[in-house]
Amino acid sequence: MTLLSEILEYNKTFVDEKLYEQYTTTKFPDKKLVILTCMDTRLIELLHKATNMKNGDVKVVKNAGAILSHPFGSIMRSLLIAVYELQADEVYVIGHHDCGMSVLDGEKMLEKITERGIEKETLDIIKNSGIDLNKWLEGFDSVEDSVKHSVDMIRSHPLMADEVPVHGLVINPETGKLDLVVDGYKR
Ligand SMILES: [Zn+2]
Repeated sequence: MTLLSEILEYNKTFVDEKLYEQYTTTKFPDKKLVILTCMDTRLIELLHKATNMKNGDVKVVKNAGAILSHPFGSIMRSLLIAVYELQADEVYVIGHHDCGMSVLDGEKMLEKITERGIEKETLDIIKNSGIDLNKWLEGFDSVEDSVKHSVDMIRSHPLMADEVPVHGLVINPETGKLDLVVDGYKR
């Protein structure tokens, strides 16, 4: 059985037995916040349990590293939509210790890409068109600095309303302990 058929089979049971009923809620976050966090597997349930969030409480935007790198990319757009269209009144950037992005080496990832069959010429064409692939694939040295940087970008974004607090935190992916990096109320 493939993973896909396994998922589809389970899904049929889930729907047939109405297991969804316990998750019924609306698209608006009851606690009126949006979280930008990392796609790390350890955070799927842990982050929500450790912050007392259940289905319906929060909008969540995820990517590798909880990094906001482009002021007009899809992450920033999602945060703005959460604030203006979905009643999120506060933004939380939550990075985590032991993040894969803290050890990501662009050069090494490009090696893996070519080992998997992508032609070196393809990389050259992309590089020659002005895209710095190494930089694009580079991680961060300090998760605290990365969180601060993302908070600053969101806070200073020309389309972000002044009254929206933007907080920065770092979570321990084993214990769920949160450390405050930026208190958005104090700005
Ligand atoms: Zn991570």
